[in-house]
Amino acid sequence: MTELTGGSALPQERRVVTAIPGPKSLELQARRTATVAGGVGSVLPVFTTRAGGGVIEDVDGNSLIDFGSGIAVTSVGASAEAVVRRASAQLANFTHTCFMVTPYEGYVEVCERLAELTPGDHAKKSALFNSGAEAVENAVKIARAYTKRQAVVVFDHGYHGRTNLTMALTAKNMPYKHGFGPFAPEVYRVPVAYGYRWPTGPENCGPEAAAQAIDQITKQVGAENVAAIIIEPVLGEGGFIEPAKGFLPAIVQFANDNGIVFVADEIQSGFCRTGQWFACEDEGVVPDLITTAKGIAGGMPLAAVTGRAEIMDSAHAGGLGGTYGGNPVACAAALGAIETMRELDLNAKAKRIEEVMKARLAVMQEKFPVIGDIRGRGAMIAVELVKDPETKAPAPEAAGALAKACHAEGLLVLTCGTYGNVLRFLPPLVIGEDLLNEGLDIIEAALGQL
Ligand SMILES: *Cc1c(COP(=O)(O)O)cnc(C)c1O
Repeated sequence: MTELTGGSALPQERRVVTAIPGPKSLELQARRTATVAGGVGSVLPVFTTRAGGGVIEDVDGNSLIDFGSGIAVTSVGASAEAVVRRASAQLANFTHTCFMVTPYEGYVEVCERLAELTPGDHAKKSALFNSGAEAVENAVKIARAYTKRQAVVVFDHGYHGRTNLTMALTAKNMPYKHGFGPFAPEVYRVPVAYGYRWPTGPENCGPEAAAQAIDQITKQVGAENVAAIIIEPVLGEGGFIEPAKGFLPAIVQFANDNGIVFVADEIQSGFCRTGQWFACEDEGVVPDLITTAKGIAGGMPLAAVTGRAEIMDSAHAGGLGGTYGGNPVACAAALGAIETMRELDLNAKAKRIEEVMKARLAVMQEKFPVIGDIRGRGAMIAVELVKDPETKAPAPEAAGALAKACHAEGLLVLTCGTYGNVLRFLPPLVIGEDLLNEGLDIIEAALGQL
């Protein structure tokens, strides 16, 4: 079968030749521990030498199957041909001028692509930044400037970053917020439509959760005080929660009716990850502003806020920006990543990954009741693990044990979820189907040994 590696020359195979992590990784880990701040963690301390397609090679000569994509970043692979070619050429020409000092075409071209690809056919503008958190912060600045209001509404299980304002927007205390307060004011959290755990069942969840959220906003904040409502169309760190059908359209309608800027945080779910350019397209949602990062630039740091021209233009000249925002090498990489997504039709590839994964996981769920829920879209798939399918008591130990067992066999998987009990799968969209199935074999074997 043909392998879409996005141009990576790396052998697309799993190869385990030492314990994982191996001796050279352990040596480097000791040096790292002596010099890198303890607050910066690593899921799996194998030190990387090369990565591409669906694999990560380490210093000990192991080749791991990658079900993480560096947290949904390397959707086109970690060394995609078009990204390497365009970024290298840019690097040789100039590394930086600062767009706010003397501009360059790549920045403008990325904004043109964002206007084409994001939902809605209204006039759009963009501003570029370095990280997802920075994009979210700027979306709030823009929404406040436009509405002349202050309050920001976010949701249970939401994740928006680690800076001071985005910590306040993020739901989960440990590890993101614990000990790091005080947090930014004028942030209000309301319920989200988490179908699997909704008391009256998933069928009723969308409309009921929307009614609760809107009631809280109206009664506790006042719609006329709200600048922005920010939501991930598929909640990422919170556990790959797809808001139950009807929830997002109801919230968008409420925002529209009340002059509130609706912001879709597509930093994890965007750029073909869910089988569409953006996850909010699934229910025909057209956000006022959309934040992107992660998958946008094939691994180079780049982020964006894109939205209605009249909203984007409400911040005064000089009010937005940053020294490195929209760095030329990162912009060139983004153009290469977008070219790869189009040429390899990575939306179709994400849908195929969903088909393969969900079919195999459904068979596993029959055998292993620890799998309470299978969810997600495209190549953003997760299983929520429970102690008992009736009580749905979360099983974070099972998630930890499974991840560990997979790592030992040379499959990189990540966990997530408010309760730490979700195993999430974010393979590069260019992963070969053989590797995908081999990864699923490892998960199945690990479930058997649990
Ligand atoms: C990762 C993430 C962020 C933060 O992005 P950084 O680049 O880590 O700052 C914000 N929102 C969502 C939905 C994310 O997944």
